[in-house]
Amino acid sequence: MTWHILGAGSLGGLWAARLARTGLPVRLILRDRARLAGYRRLGGLTLVEPEQTSLYPIPAQTPDDPEPIDRLLLACKAYDAEEAVASVAARLTPGAELILLQNGLGSQDAVAARLPRARCILASSTEGAFRDDNFRVVFAGQGFTWLGDPREPTAPAWLAELHAAGIPHQWTPDILARLWRKLALNCAINPLTVLHTCRNGGLAEHAAEVAGLCDELVELLRACGQDSAAEDLQAEVERVIQATAANYSSMYQDVAHGRRTEIGYLLGHALAEAQRHDLSLPRLDELHRRLSAHLTRLGLPTR
Ligand code: NAD
Repeated sequence: MTWHILGAGSLGGLWAARLARTGLPVRLILRDRARLAGYRRLGGLTLVEPEQTSLYPIPAQTPDDPEPIDRLLLACKAYDAEEAVASVAARLTPGAELILLQNGLGSQDAVAARLPRARCILASSTEGAFRDDNFRVVFAGQGFTWLGDPREPTAPAWLAELHAAGIPHQWTPDILARLWRKLALNCAINPLTVLHTCRNGGLAEHAAEVAGLCDELVELLRACGQDSAAEDLQAEVERVIQATAANYSSMYQDVAHGRRTEIGYLLGHALAEAQRHDLSLPRLDELHRRLSAHLTRLGLPTR
């Protein structure tokens, strides 16, 4: 079965190259004819790895291509997910499967609501990739991808294809706990690195502020029925700060490059859920207010 990949950016390119070189059928879906023409001029997608740099001439198409889609890897940012999926909705076969790579929470529900007949498989990935040019992806950090479907615990047979492609992964019956845990780690670390203009390790100097946020995030996770995601959160946040001390968080990098952040699907989603549960979280509220003001000053969206 063909892998259609919508979003030929960092993670989409990383998946596409590894699947295609395994001999699996892959199609990239690019936004429009201009992007498609640019891609064809380059002759394919380049993946830069520590040991090798290779060009993969993966066939590409636009969203209005007539080819039916049975399996779609959605590899755009959370804020683009709904619109992106709408652009190919008419091509999805009954019972089509979508793999949603978006970070944070909120976009997955929005996509699932638009496509009640499709199976939505959620993913949470710690792999690292970035683009250093058009259709050129640098594989920057080994990682792992958790996959799961909150509505249907049976693992799909195509996980064997990921295995063959060397994409480290595991199926989990509780993908929501993974996504919530990652969201909480992101909320405790990323906004503060932006506001204090520091690498992750710089937050060691703001331990009390981090601890205060962790307390509120634990409260939120418990209110949302995510007790396992709440367990020892602060200890893990401190471990991540130490282990990634030299790194700039993804939100820091987005802001530094003048790119839109995924704030609405991280802190924004956390606060929307707090409101739904009638929970008052003054530190997270204040963090959101400060970050939004900062983004507004830079001319960046706050959602
Ligand atoms: P990216 O910006 O590098 O790539 C997204 C791509 O989607 C872009 O090429 C964009 O043009 C394309 N796109 C957006 N809307 C489209 C549409 N309607 N039609 C066609 N193409 C469209 O983003 P990324 O870094 O690959 O991130 C994707 C998701 O994965 C994010 O939610 C991110 O947080 C998450 N993630 C990324 C990494 C990483 O290392 N890059 C790691 C873990 C999680």
